[in-house]
Amino acid sequence: MRLRFKLKTVFILYFTVSLFGLIYALMQLGQRCDCAERDFAKDHAISRLRGKRHSLLEQTKKLEPTKNPKPPLPTIYVITPTYTRLVQKAELTRLSHTFLLVPQLHWIVVEDSPHKTSLVSDFLSHSGLAFTHLHVATPRERKLQEGDPNWLKPRGVEQRNEGLRWLRETNRNRAEDAVVYFADDDNTYSLQLFEEMRWTQRVSVWPVGLVGGMRYERPVVEQGRVVRFHTGWRPSRPFPLDMAGFAVSLRLVLVNPEARFDGDAPMGFLESSFLQSLVTMEELEPKADMCTKVLVWHTRTEKPKMKREEAMLKQGLGSDPAIEV
Ligand code: UDP
Ligand code: MN
Repeated sequence: MRLRFKLKTVFILYFTVSLFGLIYALMQLGQRCDCAERDFAKDHAISRLRGKRHSLLEQTKKLEPTKNPKPPLPTIYVITPTYTRLVQKAELTRLSHTFLLVPQLHWIVVEDSPHKTSLVSDFLSHSGLAFTHLHVATPRERKLQEGDPNWLKPRGVEQRNEGLRWLRETNRNRAEDAVVYFADDDNTYSLQLFEEMRWTQRVSVWPVGLVGGMRYERPVVEQGRVVRFHTGWRPSRPFPLDMAGFAVSLRLVLVNPEARFDGDAPMGFLESSFLQSLVTMEELEPKADMCTKVLVWHTRTEKPKMKREEAMLKQGLGSDPAIEV
């Protein structure tokens, strides 16, 4: 009786353990099924990442310097004469926003002043541009006086020459591939103009809009060469071009150390006084679609009237001089 009971217990125990073993085995079987699915998702992700890796490697290969790297962009040195007046900061702001959009541009700002002003110094240091800040005062006898007509004396002469002096001094030991452009602070410049002038060999030329009492002035081009100039006044001048209508290679400036603007040149001959020692008309490189596109305008800014300011000032109610305009 005791033996039978024991056998039964052993049998039940054996049966229960086997059953649990079977259930456990079945559960493992189910889990293996899940694993297979997960492995499939993993494989998929791996192959996707491999594909990505391949395309990224291809992209970096394309960006890596090749055996024949492109030559670096020639620098455009822009020389700008500027002087203290109510609209100065507005002019410099507009100009700097154009230049910020031009790659590889170095701005040489030359103040017509016996010292650098804090307005221009602060402005340039916050401009985000590569720049050089210079100054030289126009001698009194050369300066336009209040009420003088603006054609009486050339403006910005000493300042442009100071910019040239700095370029020659800085490039004494090496002549980088670069071009020099004289940009007055009140003109309007299209971005395309800078790409036209960038690869200048000697002197490149193009039309200037709203100048000389005309819609535009321009060099006239026949068979790729400049043959004469479209201008309303003394077309017989050696180079009847506005300051905004040409650029010179830095190399040419350096190999002609005497070339400069002559402040005593007769009216309208300032540009000629500089260009004459550098090129002939036949050598000029016409840009802007053979000089048929206007990409720069000789705009002029109206002098703001200060009548109310003066009246308020008399009453002690003038604008705060500490607020820079
Ligand atoms: N300029 C200067 N000092 C002056 C007058 C003008 O440095 O006393 C600068 C001016 O800021 C500009 C350039 O010389 O960049 C040409 O001057 P302006 O635009 O008055 O000449 P215009 O357009 O009448 O030829
Ligand atoms: Mn001007």
